[in-house]
Amino acid sequence: MKATFLLGPMTMEVRSISVPKHPPGGALIKVLSTGLCGSDINRIRYTTSGEVRVLGHEISGEIVSIDPNVTDFQIGDRVSVGHVHIPCMHCEYCRHGAQAMCRQFKTITVEPGGYAEYVALTHDHLAHSVIRISAGVSSAAATFIDPLGCCMRAVRLSEIRAFDRVVVIGAGTMGQLFVMLLKELHAEVFVVDISKYRLEHASKFGAQHTIQSDNNTVESILKFTNGKGADTVILSFLNQEILDLAADCVREGGNICIFAPPIQEHRLEIDYSKFFRRGLRMFSSYSSNLDEIENAMMWISSKKVNVEALITGTVGLDYLLEAVENLTEKDFKVIVQP
Ligand SMILES: [Zn+2]
Ligand SMILES: [Zn+2]
Repeated sequence: MKATFLLGPMTMEVRSISVPKHPPGGALIKVLSTGLCGSDINRIRYTTSGEVRVLGHEISGEIVSIDPNVTDFQIGDRVSVGHVHIPCMHCEYCRHGAQAMCRQFKTITVEPGGYAEYVALTHDHLAHSVIRISAGVSSAAATFIDPLGCCMRAVRLSEIRAFDRVVVIGAGTMGQLFVMLLKELHAEVFVVDISKYRLEHASKFGAQHTIQSDNNTVESILKFTNGKGADTVILSFLNQEILDLAADCVREGGNICIFAPPIQEHRLEIDYSKFFRRGLRMFSSYSSNLDEIENAMMWISSKKVNVEALITGTVGLDYLLEAVENLTEKDFKVIVQP
C-alpha cells in the first residue's frame, strides 16, 4: 500500500509498504478520509524530530478485516477514529476528567498513521475511540469529530452560557468551528483575525461581530460590551501581542482559554498585578475527552455545525506536500483521500 512519510521540514515521500496487520482484538480499516490538521501542518513545516513517520490522526474509513471475537463492529462498517491515542480510563488522570494527561495516552497509536491507504487499530481503539459514522455523514465530515471535540472541551472548560460574550481570536478552521458551536449555544460571538476573507466566513457562520485586528481591536470589543469586556476570550492563535490583547478585552473575573498549541518554544509575559487584581482566570484546553468526541459526531450529523462548509480541498497521498505548500488564507480544511 501507499503511505506518505514525513522525513524533515517540508520533506515528504510516498513509499510503498506492506499493509499492516491488526493486533489481536483489533481491526484493519481502508482509509476513506483523513483531515489535514493544523498540528500536522505545523509538524510538516517545522518538525525538529528526526523520526521518519506517517502523520494523520483525523481518520475515517471502512472496516475491511476484524478480529472475529470483536462483536461491536463488523466488516463494512464506516467508522471514524476519535483519537489515535487511547487513555487507560482507570488512572487518577482519567478518573478526574483529564484523559489526555493519562500516562498511557500517547503510548497507544494507530499503524502507520492516517496518511496511508490502510490503518491498523488496536482493541483499545475499538473499545474507546472508534465511532460508527452516522447515516448521511460523509467520511470527510466525520474526520471533524477530533477537532470539533477539542472545541467542545474548550467551550465546556470556559463554562460558556447563553448570551455570554465570547471573543474568538483567529478565524482559521478551529476559529470557524468555535463560531458555529457558540452560535448554537446562543453566545454573542466576536471574531478577531487579520484576514478579511476569513472574517467574512465567520459572519456567514454566525459571528455577530467581526473585527479586523488593528490598533483599535480592544476599543471595538469594549464598545460592543458596554465598556465591560468579554466574558471569555478563546485563543486559537497566541503570541505576546495576542495575550496582551486578550487580557485587555476580557471583563473582570472573565476567562482566557488558551487553545493554541505552541509552534516553537514560547515564553510569554503577563502583567501580574493586572491579572491578579482583575481576578482573571486563564487555562489551557488540550485535546478532548472521549465523551466529547462522541458528542461531536451528534453535532455533525445534526448539521447544526456545518463542517462540510469548511472543506476547501481534497488531495491524494501523492499531493499532500504540494497541498501544504499551496495553503492560503482561503483554505480551511483540506481532506486527504488515499
Ligand atoms: Zn487534529
Ligand atoms: Zn489513564
